[in-house]
Amino acid sequence: MAFPSIMSGSRAGVFSIALALGSAGAWADTIVLKNGHRISASNVVEAGDKIRYETSVGELSLPKSIVDHIEKGFGGGGAASSADSASNMAITPPAMDAARGNGGEIEHAVIHGGGIDREYIAKLESETRNGSAAAGMDAAVAHHVAANFELAHGDMDHALADEQTALTYAPDEPLLLMDVAYLYLRRSEYRQSLDYLERAQRIAPSNADVAKLSGWAYYGLNRVEDAVSEWKRALALKPDAEVQNALEKAQRDAQEESTYRDGDTVHFRLRYNGSAAPELARDVLRILETDFDEISSTLNYVPPEPIGVILYTNQAFMDITRASGWVGALNDGRIRVPVEGLTTMTEELARVLKHELTHSFVGQKTGGRCPVWLQEGIAQYMEGKRSRSAASGLNSAYERHMEFSLASYESSWMNLPRETASSAYAWSLATVEAIVTEEGMVSVERILDRIATLSTAEDAIHAVLHDSYASLMEFTVQYLRKAYS
Ligand SMILES: [Zn+2]
Repeated sequence: MAFPSIMSGSRAGVFSIALALGSAGAWADTIVLKNGHRISASNVVEAGDKIRYETSVGELSLPKSIVDHIEKGFGGGGAASSADSASNMAITPPAMDAARGNGGEIEHAVIHGGGIDREYIAKLESETRNGSAAAGMDAAVAHHVAANFELAHGDMDHALADEQTALTYAPDEPLLLMDVAYLYLRRSEYRQSLDYLERAQRIAPSNADVAKLSGWAYYGLNRVEDAVSEWKRALALKPDAEVQNALEKAQRDAQEESTYRDGDTVHFRLRYNGSAAPELARDVLRILETDFDEISSTLNYVPPEPIGVILYTNQAFMDITRASGWVGALNDGRIRVPVEGLTTMTEELARVLKHELTHSFVGQKTGGRCPVWLQEGIAQYMEGKRSRSAASGLNSAYERHMEFSLASYESSWMNLPRETASSAYAWSLATVEAIVTEEGMVSVERILDRIATLSTAEDAIHAVLHDSYASLMEFTVQYLRKAYS
């Protein structure tokens, strides 16, 4: 114990953090509309008269007629791109540098044999009774190591519990405060996250990462102006290309919405163009609140924060409403719906709203881990679509051995030809419909719960339904024959 203060200081180094807001490749493409509006997306492709692209909630499309050009970025979508529902930006978990101080030693003692040694952690905790700061730091490091292990295994709840316990042993450690804040961000609990970031900010006022995370929390709370100022502050403290991208995106939103009016309810933050009919905005909120209650009880989940909804009346989106009605609504964490020319609620708009809102629930409930086929299946089911008209086509495709492979429709639907994409939507709906009808909605809910913590969707399907993807297909076809023949 010759150098207790130095050791304690160097141990703090194990909390070193590598927060990366937005992985460079994840949302690399930008669709520039003729009105100048820009949409960040990945894997943008032309398909006939549509521009198809990918977001965290699945495939979306715009009529080519309203698109000016596409700016292609680098890379493609990755698993990380769907992790964040707030801002379309992925954020990597805080990385631990175990090489410094006692951290490496403690890490090896805490994690071994593929698990966490709780006895060892309890021993470190008992050593804190003498009140030594070094012992407290060791216990904090041990819980932090356990939290990282749990996070890496998708166990968000225990990760949060361990990180909070770590904080009780080192309450003024800004990096632990940021870790807890990060975990709340991942759970879309932005207000909670801000509480910890404010504490970190008081202790480390010129830490650029605190500002970076705060921007993300504000963006998630639909406080775009506050997000802009936090990200500006982060950039002033430290140049960071990812913050720069986030800032530009938020500034575009802020500019776009600067003349918009607000309409808030308990669960929604609505923004709409000043020229839009206020009655329509009211109707939208009313219908969303009804949908919220229904989806909430169906999926047994309540999003922790109000959901942002933006009604666009841009000239550009007019083409959409003139065409087939409601192509191009999208959900990138905020629900964005074009309503040009509409003054009252239509059946079609109501369906679009419910579909997009379902994506918000499923995305948040699973921490962004839900595969695209299941997302689209549930969203279509909730909006009221059923497989009646598609059933015979799907059956004969199956008989011709052109069955659907759920595994290949978990992520990108982007490069699919138009017809394949429409069959992917149909199979996704049929599969979810079969599960709900035969096994109950509670099974879908259980599958989502497992996806939130397990590594693969097929494992979740197997755990709940005892089916592989292949046998689930067979099950779906049997259901279609029984229900619609
Ligand atoms: Zn959808």
